[in-house]
Amino acid sequence: MSEQARESSYRGADSRGFFGPYGGAYVPETVVPALQELEAAFAKSQTDPAFAEEYETLLRDYVGRPSPLYRADRLAEAVRLGAVYLKREDLNHTGAHKINNTIGQCLLARRMGKKRVIAETGAGQHGVATATAAALLGQECAVFMGVEDIRRQALNVYKMRLLGAEVIPVDEGTGTLADAVTAAMRHWVERVRDTFYVLGSALGPHPYPTIVREFQRVIGDEAIVQLAERGVRPDAIVACVGGGSNAIGTFYPFLLASSAEDLPLLVGAEAAGKGLDTSETGASIALGDPGVMHGFFSYLLQDERGNPLEAYSISAGLDYPGIGPEHAYLHDEGLVRYVPVTDDEALVAFEQLCRTEGIIPAIESAHALALLPQLAEELGPDAIVLLTVSGRGDKDVDVVREAGIGE
Ligand SMILES: *Cc1c(COP(=O)(O)O)cnc(C)c1O
Repeated sequence: MSEQARESSYRGADSRGFFGPYGGAYVPETVVPALQELEAAFAKSQTDPAFAEEYETLLRDYVGRPSPLYRADRLAEAVRLGAVYLKREDLNHTGAHKINNTIGQCLLARRMGKKRVIAETGAGQHGVATATAAALLGQECAVFMGVEDIRRQALNVYKMRLLGAEVIPVDEGTGTLADAVTAAMRHWVERVRDTFYVLGSALGPHPYPTIVREFQRVIGDEAIVQLAERGVRPDAIVACVGGGSNAIGTFYPFLLASSAEDLPLLVGAEAAGKGLDTSETGASIALGDPGVMHGFFSYLLQDERGNPLEAYSISAGLDYPGIGPEHAYLHDEGLVRYVPVTDDEALVAFEQLCRTEGIIPAIESAHALALLPQLAEELGPDAIVLLTVSGRGDKDVDVVREAGIGE
């Protein structure tokens, strides 16, 4: 086959931000000019070598990229795979992939002349990553956080304040992430002249899903180079999916680089929580229906009247009641397989990585690890798997101990 014919036809969103029927910008008229300004500034930044250079320099010298690609032999043996390569986003400054995106968006904010950034946060991870980037770039920072989450995540609230950010409590609704997003959007409209909204996952109204993907694709871009250096071709690639930013950042470069025939099996692990047959779950693909929330159309967990349900997972990063629109499209097209993973399955995989490799993963990332045994069964004992460890697990040690693991 010629090189031309082997090229992928995958292109991402159309000019209005639709991935098939998903995505778009379902927002009040008042937000439209701000999104258009953002889209134009982002497009310009992407063709400016000076922007790329500054972003890449910070990723190298401040974040510590490229993140290592580590062959985890004892883990591979335990799960009966030929090889498992871990993409170590847990080794980034601040301990997860989120910093890739917040540095990108805060640089974009500066370029647009906005002196102030705002963000929403649930567990506080995106809030801390935004406060970090804002401190680095000397920007004023305010983070919207539900009162219930403020109570549950006291350490991250303190970290944000330590980094110079203001944490703004949101006491509407259930006082959790969905309410914080709504409050941040509303505030953005009022202060758009001097304020940039740093969105935390590959979702929200166009152009956010594309912006976040472009700032996270460094994960997959690096992995392609690192695998090629070793002459390795993965049979499967696995990542956990909350809103979907570490997963799309991992998958997208492979989608671009491969034809349909030689695309590895792409697998996203979504949170099943206490099980698909319970109401305590975060599995938007397995259990959700298409609908609109937070300005975009995608699979959502919703009641009969289309109101978002509260999602649940043991991992605070996966309990969003929706999924980024690009994932909804990749699901429908059959390009990525989404598999629900329960709390209990994730806990087993969490402990396994601690014991076999001396790596304490984020409980989010443990959802991806939990799929390795079933992939071994399906693909055989020689199969090679690439897996993104989205973050480190220090933040989860209390929760895991409460669950009785390791004692
Ligand atoms: C926030 C978070 C996630 C989930 O977010 P995505 O946008 O789906 O990547 C996963 N892992 C870690 C460590 C996180 O902090």
